[in-house]
Amino acid sequence: MARPTSATIHTDALRHNLSQVRQRAPNSRVMAVVKADGYGHGLERVARALTGADAFGVAALSDAERLRAAGLSQPIVLLSGFDEPDDLSQLRRLNVETVVHHVTQLEMLEQAPPGEPIRCWLKLDTGMHRLGFAPEYVREAHTRLWAMPAVADDIVLMNHFASSDEFDKPQTREQLHVFAEATAGLPGVRSLANSAAVLGWPAAHADWVRPGGALYGISVVDGTSGTDFGLRPAMTLSTRLIAVNRIRKGERIGYSATWECPEDMPVGVAAIGYGDGYPRHAPAGTPVLLNGQRANIIGRVSMDLMTIDLRAQPDAKPGDPVVLWGVGLPVETIGAAADTIGYELVCSITRRVRFVED
Ligand SMILES: *Cc1c(COP(=O)(O)O)cnc(C)c1O
Repeated sequence: MARPTSATIHTDALRHNLSQVRQRAPNSRVMAVVKADGYGHGLERVARALTGADAFGVAALSDAERLRAAGLSQPIVLLSGFDEPDDLSQLRRLNVETVVHHVTQLEMLEQAPPGEPIRCWLKLDTGMHRLGFAPEYVREAHTRLWAMPAVADDIVLMNHFASSDEFDKPQTREQLHVFAEATAGLPGVRSLANSAAVLGWPAAHADWVRPGGALYGISVVDGTSGTDFGLRPAMTLSTRLIAVNRIRKGERIGYSATWECPEDMPVGVAAIGYGDGYPRHAPAGTPVLLNGQRANIIGRVSMDLMTIDLRAQPDAKPGDPVVLWGVGLPVETIGAAADTIGYELVCSITRRVRFVED
């Protein structure tokens, strides 16, 4: 029998979430961010579901190559920019736009061989301090780009927010202010907002929004899940029980014997573990949905298996369905239990998990 572990991708949820983003940012174009294999949902699958987006954002040229090979003709933006002169011919061949965030890239563009002008997204560092030109250098960078034959005239101005998920913190407002000052009077459309800014910072919507997580139905706003914002989960990770055992009071479960049975009790074994991408450090008490009802993990998550407290469902039997996250159990809940965020979990599904679409 095939391993019963699968990730179901809800393509209708992807489309629903895109329409939710459009409702929240009605005057903005939408770049669907599909980096990291569509946040683990499958790049081509996601892009085909989201052909209604105005552009796709990727982090690797190889992803742009895959999108073009899949026949997708939308604009594509390379969000972390190009690294070497050779990449410029790839950008031209694939008709891909690029973020420009560093002076070395200006030099490469200045030395580019003649050819189609490349559309550039000039990135400012307004306080995230990861990628981007310092605000005081932006005008000079813009002037240099503007003068280059290799660069198309419609230069986009962009930044990235560090804490837009914290609606009551001042940093986003400060970043907006730095951006407005540094770019005042410069021509070109603007792009600022990631998912959290789409949800919580209407003043940041500007000409292009760049949601990733929201399209997959995932919130990074602490204590919330996508459903709180009208979004629907785009992935359900599920498996089945493959064994049910009665274990005696005082016996201990799994590796390192970390969980002791407080009474004689039924324990279920589900066919999923960290070899599938489920986080090993999810502690006892992390919920799953067994037959649609919450039950708790007990003991250590191992490579292929996990153990589940069946006291609330003593009639559970091998074959019964177990949902690890998705519809009915937000991935954000599991992220919080495992000391991470939903994004990391959906990006971490491994190759042995079967992907299906509904
Ligand atoms: C990943 C990324 C996004 C999308 O972020 P989400 O939080 O998933 O919406 C937007 N812009 C840039 C530059 C990114 O790298």
